[in-house]
Amino acid sequence: MTDRSLVLGRYSIGTGDRFAHQAKAQLRACMLALQAGIEIQPAWNKSNREHTIIGSEPGSVRQAADAAVRQLGWKHPYFVDADHIGARTVDRFLEACDFYTIDVADFIGQEAELAEIDAFASAHKSLLGPIRLEGVEDSFTITENDLRLTATKFLTAVKTAGVVYRQIEAAKGKGNFVAEVSMDETDRAQSPVELLIILAAIAGEGIPIQTIAPKFSGQFNKGVDYVGDLEQFEREFVLDVAAIAYAVSHFGLPGNLKLSVHSGSDKFSIYPAIHSTMKRFNAGVHLKTAGTTWLEELVGLAESGGDGLEIAKEIYCDAFADRDELCAPYATVIDIDARELPSPNVVRGWSGEEYAAAMRHNPVEPRYNKSLRQLLHVGFKVAAKKGSRYLALIEENEDIIARNVTENLYKRHIVPVFLGARA
Ligand SMILES: [Zn+2]
Repeated sequence: MTDRSLVLGRYSIGTGDRFAHQAKAQLRACMLALQAGIEIQPAWNKSNREHTIIGSEPGSVRQAADAAVRQLGWKHPYFVDADHIGARTVDRFLEACDFYTIDVADFIGQEAELAEIDAFASAHKSLLGPIRLEGVEDSFTITENDLRLTATKFLTAVKTAGVVYRQIEAAKGKGNFVAEVSMDETDRAQSPVELLIILAAIAGEGIPIQTIAPKFSGQFNKGVDYVGDLEQFEREFVLDVAAIAYAVSHFGLPGNLKLSVHSGSDKFSIYPAIHSTMKRFNAGVHLKTAGTTWLEELVGLAESGGDGLEIAKEIYCDAFADRDELCAPYATVIDIDARELPSPNVVRGWSGEEYAAAMRHNPVEPRYNKSLRQLLHVGFKVAAKKGSRYLALIEENEDIIARNVTENLYKRHIVPVFLGARA
């Protein structure tokens, strides 16, 4: 698996741009990182679900990315990621994208055939017993039972990833795209032992993945901080990174293989652990964010006052009215306390500064309201319904929005994860 031509660098960040207007402001955050001495390659990601809700096509993401790169003179690699695609949804992404997040979470737990499990277990006998992971004190032991149970649960998912990978390869040509396999949108986290066995299966299936997105333990709610046991997260993250290094040297997976953290944006409290683990293992990471940028559009609109503030308030009031419908598709990744949601009448009376203070993810700001933030995170459909009026206002207030978008991505995400300091 060495004949790849398109190679994802050690550090990369996935950014989402719901309305395709912030690519330049996002790329500026990567330029700031470059000035600070570190190359972070951007990947603009958008899922089929987002395209469907907004009524956009993958080509618009490609256009916005290309234009931003041209205008800012970015000389480094960048990507357009078909986020969370599968066999049924990949077609519309084949032309525009060069990064494919193959989502097989729905196939986890579909039991593999007994013959397949037997074949897998006998082909991977060498994994049985204690595994020496480089740089980790207590490495783990894999039993016959681990091997068979993991195969039972995950082989069907891995084979499905193989089918989708070959579908993309047939259209794009080998080596012309980055492949990721994602298993994060499921109910149970994968352990590091499972991750190692899954990587063996992926290698056996012949998928030259450059990133893998497991589900980590803890809650990764949209647009708000991590909820869970920080020590456990760090322990597992360390073992995951060490398991990947093992898989690269023993299973022949690409040398740049790294974890993709589908963060749901804004997981500030785990960023120091991610940074220190990367340093310790000299490893890379792909940090996938998305909705955090759309929330900065709202912050910028609110701060701009006038019609911008007006539409930001309207969006909250409409989202409040439609909250059940908006939240339903995201039920497992949001945690809104309805009692914390201000009534529309209260919000109608807010100044731009008050709106921004409630919205902006500044954990030490007493007015910061994480329920309001999560509701608006899933409320982009409301803005999409406002159509050209919304787009005209974000164009009119481009400067103030861009400042918020760049600062949010750079200071709150890039600095703590890749540069290693608190913003
Ligand atoms: Zn994901």
